[in-house]
Amino acid sequence: MTQCEICGTENEKNFTVIMNGENHVFDTFMCAIQELAPLCEHCGCKVLGHGVERSSHLFCSDSCSRKETSEAPPEG
Ligand SMILES: [Zn+2]
Ligand SMILES: [Zn+2]
Repeated sequence: MTQCEICGTENEKNFTVIMNGENHVFDTFMCAIQELAPLCEHCGCKVLGHGVERSSHLFCSDSCSRKETSEAPPEG
């Protein structure tokens, strides 16, 4: 039986996520998110959706991407 690498739970429903060629075992998506979800480069929150990618940096939202890249928001 495999063990969740975050909380150590052994459960037959544990699942494996392959990311960048590495296998990770988790018991819940919460644990998987804690380990694998990318962080917004501005506010540090976990990016669980598509996020906003700008100049190969990842942000949780358009507003974070603007603050970090100091691009002026569109006028008006
Ligand atoms: Zn777990
Ligand atoms: Zn953010």
